[in-house]
Amino acid sequence: MNVHIESVEVEPGYRLEDYAEYNYLTSQVADLEAAARISVPLLTGRKIWMVSSTRQGGGVAEGLPRVVSLMRQLGLSVEWVVIHSPDPAFFALTKRVHNHLHGVGKTGLGRRDRELYDGVSTRLADEFASELGSDDILIVHDPQPLGMGARLKAKRGLPTIWRCHVGFDQTVPVSEEAWQFLKADVLAYDRSIFTLDAYVPSFLSGKAAIIPPGIDPLTHKNRELSVPKTSGILIDAALAATMHPVLTPPFEAPALRLQVDGSFKSAVFPEDLGLLFRPILTQISRWDRLKGVGPLLDAFVLLKRGKPARARSDRHQLSIDHARLVLAGPEPEGVQDDPEALEVLTELCERWSNLPPELKHEIAILKLPLASVKQNALMVNALQRCSTVVVQNSVREGFGLTVAEAMWKTRPVMGGAAAGIRAQLVDGTTGRLVDDPGNA
Ligand code: UDP
Repeated sequence: MNVHIESVEVEPGYRLEDYAEYNYLTSQVADLEAAARISVPLLTGRKIWMVSSTRQGGGVAEGLPRVVSLMRQLGLSVEWVVIHSPDPAFFALTKRVHNHLHGVGKTGLGRRDRELYDGVSTRLADEFASELGSDDILIVHDPQPLGMGARLKAKRGLPTIWRCHVGFDQTVPVSEEAWQFLKADVLAYDRSIFTLDAYVPSFLSGKAAIIPPGIDPLTHKNRELSVPKTSGILIDAALAATMHPVLTPPFEAPALRLQVDGSFKSAVFPEDLGLLFRPILTQISRWDRLKGVGPLLDAFVLLKRGKPARARSDRHQLSIDHARLVLAGPEPEGVQDDPEALEVLTELCERWSNLPPELKHEIAILKLPLASVKQNALMVNALQRCSTVVVQNSVREGFGLTVAEAMWKTRPVMGGAAAGIRAQLVDGTTGRLVDDPGNA
């Protein structure tokens, strides 16, 4: 099997008029339309290609469908494609580069890595070149398809933009080496865009634009949910049990919870989690070591064991006693460009299986199926809304859409003090920043 480029269909979803109806968005929609009146005519007849490396799981896949749909509504011709490589070593390498850009891992990117990255990038570029018109524009997301875009630039001379969603606000040898690995390809592009100023590598200093990502308030992930709707979703997803009749049918693929025998079963086994009644701490993220899920589990165990004893009152102690921790993430097989997910989830499951039975009851490890994007989003929305605290204990975080999602839902957030989270969370106002998320 060879490399290939998959075209991803994008549903139109909400229209600009729908957004404009909300007071807090009216002026933004007007500004966007005014800007479009100037720029869209300049782009007539040209197709804009968004290129990324997974259609589901993670922040890029979360944001692109809405961006594509909104750009289309403004009159632009936009397509979204995803790169595929049959060689698993390619995404293993790009994951290593991703970790290195975040300052994690050991240096040692070598000649074989170079050959692998360049080889796959060239084959992808050869595969994709025939689809492209001479006036088309490429917007390439993150390091995985970066090399392909650089080769297409060289081959076809198209305008190219690299949109980097990752970053680390320090320079350490391992991040420096990763930037050296990518540098020639990055420099081949006409423009680059980063999430924060602090992420721009020195060789692009003064030449990159900054655009923080955003969330869409009207999507299934973020839209307002009434109390009956929230409970209905939890019940349809088998995240909660009920004796009452429910209006809507069960989801085709329910959420799955780790069981004592190591299997994953519907989350109401062995008993209802109490999501609608108990103090709930929730982290929802990809199974990635940089998300700090392991230390979070350990911290919750310490909290339950009263170490350190911090209860301020009997009522507070009762909250701690009744609290449950929910650690949720996508089915690991579903996220193409994240080959470490299965390993990280397996490690977490082992950590959980070594806990005494009473603590296993208090900590739910959940897999949220990706079969339906809508149902997955509704599960995330309902889980965030019924949380007392949303946690994002990231050791490193480019941005952390989950933080914006939780704050939008007025949930207090406990966030690891990684740069992306520090840029969003106001310590003491919208939540608390944890200086050392790796320290339980
Ligand atoms: N997400 C999801 N289902 C999951 C886990 C995560 O829909 O099981 C979403 C989450 O709600 C957020 C995105 O994936 O919108 C993750 O983006 P973020 O910027 O937090 O992190 P990234 O995965 O890009 O590192």
